[in-house]
Amino acid sequence: MGNLASEVESRLGACHICGKIKVLTNRKCKECAIDQHSQFKRDLGFILEQLELTLIEKNKAYGDSALNPCRIFSRADVLEQINVRIDDKLNRIINSGEYPGDDDELDLLGYLILRRIGRSRQ
Ligand SMILES: [Zn+2]
Repeated sequence: MGNLASEVESRLGACHICGKIKVLTNRKCKECAIDQHSQFKRDLGFILEQLELTLIEKNKAYGDSALNPCRIFSRADVLEQINVRIDDKLNRIINSGEYPGDDDELDLLGYLILRRIGRSRQ
């Protein structure tokens, strides 16, 4: 019984978010953990939606060229062509040579998703 009491006590403390003395898990009270998780889900949903809209818009604007390349000059397969685009994007990020209006990080996420779509079609 003594052990159980000290175990409960050791979980009691000041929540590192709200500062209230409560039972803590990972230094957070239950209410703050739920708030953080909800905020994470909202933020994740926003980013994924932005990514999805960008991919759909670009797929339309570029005529599905990433997954159905026109192959006029390059005969490389779909994945290899996407790999080259990813390398180019990484190279640009490394050399911090972003063009105005471009979002290299979002583009990189997009290419990685296109790569997964391409792989799923093989
Ligand atoms: Zn809290």
